[in-house]
Amino acid sequence: MPEGMRDRVGDRVRRRLRLELGDTDLKTTKSSVVNVSTKDTKAKDGKREMKDWIKEGIVKRKSQFSTVIIYKTRDPKRLPEYVKNVYQNFSEIYAYYIWRGLQKVRIENDRIVFEKAFSARSLDAALDHVDDIFLRKERVLFVIQAYKANDSLTQALRAWMFDESMYARGHTITIFTEEPSLILDAATIKYAILIKIPPSTREEREQILLEIARATGSEVDKSMIDATSGLTLQEIESVALESVFRFGKLDTNVLLNYKYDIIRKAGVLDVEWSEHGFDAIGGYDVVKEFIKDNVVKVLQNPKKAEKLGIRPPKGLLLFGPPGTGKTLFARAMAKELNLPFLRLRTENIVSRWYGESEKNLARAIELAEEVAPCILFVDEIDRFGRRGESDHETSRRMFSVLLEWLGDARRRTIMLGTTNKPHHLDEAFIRVGRFDYIIPVLLPDFEARKQILDVHTKVVRNVPLRDVSLEEVAKKTELFTGAELEELVLRAARNALREDREFVTQEDFDVSLDSFSIDWEERRRQMDEYMELSRKYCNDLRFLNRLTSTMSSRIEALKRQLESF
Ligand code: ATP
Repeated sequence: MPEGMRDRVGDRVRRRLRLELGDTDLKTTKSSVVNVSTKDTKAKDGKREMKDWIKEGIVKRKSQFSTVIIYKTRDPKRLPEYVKNVYQNFSEIYAYYIWRGLQKVRIENDRIVFEKAFSARSLDAALDHVDDIFLRKERVLFVIQAYKANDSLTQALRAWMFDESMYARGHTITIFTEEPSLILDAATIKYAILIKIPPSTREEREQILLEIARATGSEVDKSMIDATSGLTLQEIESVALESVFRFGKLDTNVLLNYKYDIIRKAGVLDVEWSEHGFDAIGGYDVVKEFIKDNVVKVLQNPKKAEKLGIRPPKGLLLFGPPGTGKTLFARAMAKELNLPFLRLRTENIVSRWYGESEKNLARAIELAEEVAPCILFVDEIDRFGRRGESDHETSRRMFSVLLEWLGDARRRTIMLGTTNKPHHLDEAFIRVGRFDYIIPVLLPDFEARKQILDVHTKVVRNVPLRDVSLEEVAKKTELFTGAELEELVLRAARNALREDREFVTQEDFDVSLDSFSIDWEERRRQMDEYMELSRKYCNDLRFLNRLTSTMSSRIEALKRQLESF
């Protein structure tokens, strides 16, 4: 960035700060910069260094003989940046913004100056006006910030795109939009130049943070540049200034939290930091060990793993009956890996409007990749990859979005899906490569039940017990799920409260046990079924053998027990 321009950006930041903080020491403060390269991005001859996405547009305009360039971006700062870089190639520039109408644009001393081109504000009128200019003049650039679908714009673009004289006269129409498919249909869009602008590059983030640090006497370190990855230029400036206004300095955690807020606001993902790791999961040692050895260890020692030719795992599918702790495992894994836990908000993804569902899903994937490395948790993943529903347009399209992403080698997000119905998943989903491991999480055995009761009376919450044998309770709860064991503890505690006691007794557990109505025969059948599904889907034989050896003896014991009733 040229020195003059950098000063002006600094000026803008200082002006915003002065508005908030008054005319304090800002002029004299010096920033201290640590652990960050302060590489000057100024080009040798003093000219602006052109960004890749702008170069790409120029090259493609020449090579594809197309007059329409569509930039996919949600950053309003990209349009002015573009105009400042390309204005020398054009005789006149017009810009259309919804709130300003049609503007004639000039660049004066590296600043954009807008002049109202004519009084009407509507896009229809602007398109007519510019069409007239296109006929009369040469080398005209028309830039549009487009937020929503507009039939007139689509028609005008189609007309301009296929008009050879438009290209010959050197005209260019450049659209900035979050969603190109709203502007042009799939059949026409392939005749336009479509370029996706990354939210921000590392250098851009570093640049903005350094400018704000300089103006405010803050420090910038590497973790801040990482924390703002995935944010647009405008978002980075906002979160960094907010951090300064609120806390007097740039702070990695504050930047991260603002970033998560921005992601939450998109409505398609929840972002959390898990509270508990594997310590809050009772039992399931086979599963825990397997995940620790094959996932946690590999991801925590990437260099060692790479030397041994081990690919970092990027997809896990957990299946089993409801309430067996699959979600708990997903959260615990995020904690063990010290990664943010993102939950796909399926309820907000699926929309009744045509094309919206897969767009929402694509947006969620894009956001997750911006936060990556992270865990993306997809509950009831069979909703997206269900067999036999290929005739249902929306599920089919959502399925292909997810499938394509799962197969993408550049994916950085670790996807953790859960399902109660692995047999309902499409074969393409199960195929090796999409999920590294398919892991059954079945009903807890005696040891696991004891530990789950322990976790729910001592780790997750503290329940004062008096003369209670959790071993006895565990014996009486064969075929209970983890969720039911938790509920059992809560009902016992409620019973103690009802009886006005400050501690829970064995009797409270007996009363609680009596309140459960479980269809044992149905449970046993379910256990058989999941054992069968484990044999079919679990793709690690060693794990399966360990699981089967404990489960088979349990199933046999249960059969005998039920027959003796
Ligand atoms: P679903 O298939 O219905 O989504 P799930 O298998 O994901 O169920 P969870 O939501 O993880 O089940 O479990 C519900 C609750 O049960 C957990 O929040 C936890 O409190 C308790 N629970 C289940 N299994 C265990 C366990 N092994 N240790 C401790 N608590 C458990």
